[in-house]
Order: sequence, then structure tokens, then C-alpha cells
Amino acid sequence: MARYIGPVCRLCRREGMKLFLKGERCHSEKCAIEKRNFVPGQHGKSKKVKKVVGYGLQLREKQKARRIYGVLEGQFRNNFEKAALMKGITGDNMLGMLERRLDNVIYRMGFGTSRAQARQIVRHGHIQVNGRKMDIPSALVKPNDLVEVRQSSRNNPAVLAAREATAHAPSPSWLEVDKDALRAKVVGMPRRDELVQIQLNEQLIVELYSK
Ligand code: SF4
Repeated sequence: MARYIGPVCRLCRREGMKLFLKGERCHSEKCAIEKRNFVPGQHGKSKKVKKVVGYGLQLREKQKARRIYGVLEGQFRNNFEKAALMKGITGDNMLGMLERRLDNVIYRMGFGTSRAQARQIVRHGHIQVNGRKMDIPSALVKPNDLVEVRQSSRNNPAVLAAREATAHAPSPSWLEVDKDALRAKVVGMPRRDELVQIQLNEQLIVELYSK
């Protein structure tokens, strides 16, 4: 499955904000946004910051969302189209679907320090949903699903290290996480007001795709 494999700190610098793509490093002073908060490229430092409006602003919001969740354009657009067919506010539906992706759920459970690491944990077959192995990062969980680290992967050093590193990070209310048992039950749907770290105006993405 295709995914972006280039340098990720450049993506944050392009957006001019932390997208939290590198786990613990994002919270340290080594973060590229702390050290070099200007657009990447040879003339990045000397470039004048232009005010972005209209289409440019909508495009930047969409790119930001794609980069945060590690989703390529085609899949992101499909996601939007499904969200548009659902009842309720399209922007909320779209973010809710991105949040319910299995790789994001593993990240929210604290068994990956970044979504990229969580995605790898899923791809490598360390996760089961409702007792069955699931290695598709884009699979969506739903209320009452039980997401667990598989029995054979319970001593996986990457999972245990991530659990340690995220021990104090709060879990969202829609996931009932049992960190010791390496499992979580989905007890609801993601709420927009809980996504405080995601600084996005999803309405601009809806406007972009509705043209
Ligand atoms: Fe972005 Fe994290 Fe890199 Fe900082 S360390 S620039 S937040 S990916």
C-alpha cells in the first residue's frame, strides 16, 4: 500500500506548525519547528511570508489533514465522499472516519508513539480486532469493537516502549483503554471537541472538495 516515505519534518515546516509525525522527538527541543520554523528549500529562510487566502487556504488545510493522518490523496478523497453521504456535518464525519482508522486507534491507545509507528505495528500483524488478526491500517473500528495486541506480540519491544513513553498521555473518551492488558474497547464515536491537538478548519476542506 502506498505511503509517503520522504522526510516528515519538512511537512511540518511546510505547514508552519507541528503535525506530530515523529513521536517523542516532537515534544523535544530537537523538533525542526523549534529550530527552523521556515519553509523548507534553498530560499526558505529569506522567503517573505505571504498571506494565504481562498483556494490556497483550503488546499493547505487539506494537505495538513492528509499529512497528520498519513493518508494519500486518493484515499483521503474517498474518505471525504463517504463522509459526505453520511448524516450530520460532513467535516465532523470526515474527521471521525480518520480517527476511527485502525492505525490511529493504536496511536490513540498509546501503543505507537506516532501514527507512522502505529501503522507499522498494524501492518506487521501485531493487532487483532474482535479476536481476528487485522493488518489493514485503514480499517475502521466501530462501537463495541475490541482492539488488542495479539498474544504472540505481547512482548514486542516497540509496543512496550511506546506504552511506556505514552504512559501519561490521556486516552480519548470513546476508547476504554486497558494499558496493562494491551487492549481497548471502542465505547463510542470520536468527538470533535476532543481533538484539540488537531488544529484544522475542516470546513475549508469541505469547501475545497465541493467545488
Ligand atoms: Fe513535526 Fe515532530 Fe518533526 Fe517537530 S519533530 S517538525 S512536530 S515531525
